[in-house]
Formats: sequence, C-alpha cells, structure tokens
Amino acid sequence: AKKEGRNILRFFNQEMQDIINIRTSLEHELRIAAETSQFRLYYQIQVDNSNRVVGAEALIRWPHKKRGLISPATFIPLAEVTGLIVPIGKWVVESACAQLREWKKSHQTSSLTLAVNVSALQFRQADFVTHVKAAVKKYGISASLLKLELTESLLQEDIDITIDTMKALKEIGVQFSLDDFGTGFSSLQYLKQLPLDQFKIDQSFVRDITTNKSDKAIVKTIISMARGLNIEVIAEGVETEEQRQLLIADGCTAFQGYLFSKPLAIEEFEALIQRGVCK
Ligand code: C2E
Ligand code: CA
Ligand code: CA
Ligand code: CA
Repeated sequence: AKKEGRNILRFFNQEMQDIINIRTSLEHELRIAAETSQFRLYYQIQVDNSNRVVGAEALIRWPHKKRGLISPATFIPLAEVTGLIVPIGKWVVESACAQLREWKKSHQTSSLTLAVNVSALQFRQADFVTHVKAAVKKYGISASLLKLELTESLLQEDIDITIDTMKALKEIGVQFSLDDFGTGFSSLQYLKQLPLDQFKIDQSFVRDITTNKSDKAIVKTIISMARGLNIEVIAEGVETEEQRQLLIADGCTAFQGYLFSKPLAIEEFEALIQRGVCK
C-alpha cells in the first residue's frame, strides 16, 4: 500500500509538472502573440425584436499553430494575471474601430454598433480614455457606434474613478453596456450613478428561463428595472425560439445568441449580413 501511495504521489507530481510546463509555454507564446498581434476578432450579430441586425459583439480568438483556434475562456484569464490583457485589449479596441470604419462604407453595415469587451485592468489604465479617443479619431468613426462592455467588478472598488472614466468617454458619445448583468453584486446605489446605455442579461439566467421560475423572475425584474432607469436591455445566450418569446413578453428589445448566429469570422459575418437572413 505504501508503494502504491508513492506511485500515486509521483504520478500526481508529474501531472502537476505537466500543467506548470503547459502554462509556462502558453504564457510565453501568449506574450509573443500579444507583441505580434496574432489574434482575430469574431463577430456575433445582435438583433432587435423583429430579428433585424442592429449590431455585433467582437469576440477575440487566438489562432494557434499547434492548438488550433484557442478560446478566450482559455487565454483571457492568463492574459489578466500576466497583465498582457492591456496590450491585447488595446489591439481589440483598435481593431474594432478599424472594422467600424470598413462598415461605414456600406449602407448595410453603416449603422451597426460594435460591442467590445473591456477587462477591468485595461479600463483602469491611466491612458485608457486617451487611447480609445485616439482610436476613434484615427479611424474617423462615430464614437456612438462603439459600445464598451464592462463587468460589475468595476463597481466594487474605485467607483469614482469608474464614473469619471465613463463620463470622459461619454463626452464623445461612446456607449456602455454592463456585461454578465446579475452575476455580480452591484449595489443599486452605485448602479444608478453610472452612465450606462445597456444591461446585458447574463446567459446563465436566459438558459433556464423556460423552466426555472426564479430565473424567469430575475430576468423580468432586470428588464423592468432597466426600463425605469431608461436603459436598454439585451439578452445573451438566446438559443431557442421559446426563450426569445418569453424575453419579448417580458419587454426585452435586443437579443444575441446561437438562435440567430454563432460568432463568425469577418468574411462569414459579412456574407450573413449580405444575405440578410435575419431580416
Ligand atoms: P462574454 O463577453 O460573456 O461573451 C459571451 C460568450 O458566450 C462568448 O463566448 C460567445 O461565443 C458565447 N455565446 C454566444 N451565444 C451563445 C449561446 O447562444 N449559447 C452559449 N452557450 N454561448 C453563447 P467566447 O467567445 O468564448 O468568449 C468568452 C468570454 O471571453 C467572453 O464572455 C468574455 O468575457 C471574454 N472575451 C472575449 N473576447 C474578449 C476580448 O476581446 N477582451 C476581453 N477582455 N475579454 C474577452
Ligand atoms: Ca461580452
Ligand atoms: Ca456576457
Ligand atoms: Ca460571460
């Protein structure tokens, strides 16, 4: 039994060593990827209650030679602990603005909003406002088509800085959406002070909305609260027509999810818009 224990321990250590090695090499590769901008943005459409496309969310992907397309769920947490999210986030904002400039050229895409995810660390950088403003100017786009998705973690500390940063960008018309709404612990006292344009109902509430009474009640409450505050609501993770119908009945006006389209590479996204399948 003793010998067996030792084997298990050795096995365990080897496994831990493997994990450490993978993480170290991934971190090294991520650093190089960030320095050479080896990422790609995918675009997921957002629709209104007549299924008309009103905008998109940009979602980052990392095309890796050996590992294939790496999901942000894998590398964003690593990017956050290493601080690499700062240059990566800059690249995302810059690329989104470049895309909005392209969309400006065509009647079909010129009014689409583009939402980008902003991590708390990125938002807290002293040059965040300057950088976003510079990117908007550089690409000559309308700032009101750029929507920054923030998370509730920004409400927990330095709320005054959060408000100042948002206000500085609102001055030029940038929009703000509160992502994963309902999963954090934001106090309503703080919430009402923020210049938010949109609440994004987290997909965890949408998932079971047709079967779970509490989730349905939460969604309904978020929508009516948003109405009272004059804030738009978008539901994410909408996968079925039943979910869409319930959300519409509760007063939701914007939707995103596999029911409409998964996130697509830019060529596929533009082909989808061309075909106008969602209209
Ligand atoms: P998120 O911002 O909450 O994005 C929604 C996630 O749900 C995306 O996963 C999207 O592909 C997925 N999704 C969309 N529709 C459906 C659906 O109907 N059902 C289900 N089950 N899932 C759906 P993705 O692209 O893997 O991104 C994961 C997370 O990574 C994002 O969650 C966001 O927190 C983060 N992320 C993505 N891109 C960026 C970025 O450019 N910067 C930062 N800081 N974070 C990013
Ligand atoms: Ca998001
Ligand atoms: Ca979300
Ligand atoms: Ca999420």
